[in-house]
Amino acid sequence: MSETDFDAIVIGAGVIGAAVALSLSRAGRRVLVLDKGAEAGHGSTAGSCAIIRPYYSTLDGCALAYESHFYWRDWEAHLGTSDERGLARYVNCGCTVMKTPGNNYLTRAMDLMEEIGAPYQDWDAATLRNRLPWLSTDSYFPPRAQDDPAFGQPNGGTLPGAVFFEPGGYVTDPALAAHNLMRAAEAAGAVFRFNTAVTAIPGEGAVTGVVVDGGERIAAGIVVNVAGPHSDGINAMAGVAGDMTIRTRALRHEVAHVPAPPDPSFAEKATVFSDSDTSAYTRPERGEYLLIGSEDPYCDPPQWVDPDDFDRDFSDRWTTLVMRAGQRVPTLGVPSTARGVVELYDVSDDWIPIYDRSMRPGYYMAIGTSGNQFKNAPVVGEMMAALIDACEGGHDHDADPLGFDLNYTGRRIDLGFYSRRRTINPESSMSVLG
Ligand SMILES: Cc1cc2nc3c(=O)[nH]c(=O)nc-3n(C[C@H](O)[C@H](O)[C@H](O)COP(=O)(O)OP(=O)(O)OC[C@H]3O[C@@H](n4cnc5c(N)ncnc54)[C@H](O)[C@@H]3O)c2cc1C
Repeated sequence: MSETDFDAIVIGAGVIGAAVALSLSRAGRRVLVLDKGAEAGHGSTAGSCAIIRPYYSTLDGCALAYESHFYWRDWEAHLGTSDERGLARYVNCGCTVMKTPGNNYLTRAMDLMEEIGAPYQDWDAATLRNRLPWLSTDSYFPPRAQDDPAFGQPNGGTLPGAVFFEPGGYVTDPALAAHNLMRAAEAAGAVFRFNTAVTAIPGEGAVTGVVVDGGERIAAGIVVNVAGPHSDGINAMAGVAGDMTIRTRALRHEVAHVPAPPDPSFAEKATVFSDSDTSAYTRPERGEYLLIGSEDPYCDPPQWVDPDDFDRDFSDRWTTLVMRAGQRVPTLGVPSTARGVVELYDVSDDWIPIYDRSMRPGYYMAIGTSGNQFKNAPVVGEMMAALIDACEGGHDHDADPLGFDLNYTGRRIDLGFYSRRRTINPESSMSVLG
């Protein structure tokens, strides 16, 4: 196949770009993936905590995330091919979320699980202490900045328990998952080209292709923006912002990697853990480490950045993260050397992604993944292929939003939920929790 023979160009070979390429290829399209980096999954995907969890603040968010659990469980079957680097592994250890006044003691989350048929366990404080003995139930709410005199001081209350979500856990190596998807897409006919930046998307009407660095023009009637934190810049190249009510921006985030608490049962019992009382979430890594991320409390001003020019060094945010996790895990030390990740989320105005067409025929976007869409990548690939198929076949998705049937859970979701032209979803947590 020569490079003039492609039906679709996917911009970005992260976990979602590679998933879109796989599903488009399986649908019979000739796909070229372009990435300015050197390897699949080496953009923001590489820094992902890769947590899989079914709880979101919206029904559609929960339904999609619960569906994704089954794709990861059946990863090898979904890929249908091997990878010389091995396959990413899903550790289905479940997720524990603290009940706090701020999340209304998770009453809505449990209602949503009932509605989508996802199993969960409602734990009181004694069960929580028994299941995760290294945790304290002292309350610290509200989350505070480190320079607040009340930082780290318990408020005198205790938390009543937690909810354990069984269909959840984490994927051991997010970049490897993207590589797995790339190999599967290649087996279905897709071509990946690295070290190639898209620099222009010419024209104003239907897309005709892209221009890459060096000036080469590559033709295709379909172009899909899956450029992660660079999504807004790619949309600007295409001139498609005109009818969008939701936009995307790059947000800097730090994730701390610290030695696990010295509890002998940690390796066996640890789950993903989310705590809006201290505003830290954690996940275990091989029973040896704890990855700690932030749940975006109001006391931490958001760090909006230029995705091509931001500080990759750790800051006092790293120490704050570890100290917040230490409020919940009193035996956790603060290491003298900072380890972890400094990366970018591609955040939409309401922290819900945009999976949609655009005002230019042939131009699509899977963007605004807001620090919470790694898990959904394999399903999003299939959703985008269905959306593109329908729109290319003449369906007016803006006027009559497409429904999409979820394979495992049997629900039908309305893809209009992810529209670029929606109003801000008032149910959103407006945080990484989605
Ligand atoms: C620190 C962190 C923690 C996270 N934790 C979780 C989690 O626990 N669970 C979860 O579900 N999600 C999580 N996420 C979110 C998840 O990782 C992302 O939603 C997902 O990886 C985005 O994948 P992507 O393919 O859209 O983007 P990316 O992986 O960023 O890929 C975009 C690609 O586009 C390429 N590109 C950009 N511009 C151009 C151009 N002009 N030309 C060619 N190529 C270009 C880049 O090189 C890059 O490879 C986290 C994200 C971060 C940053």
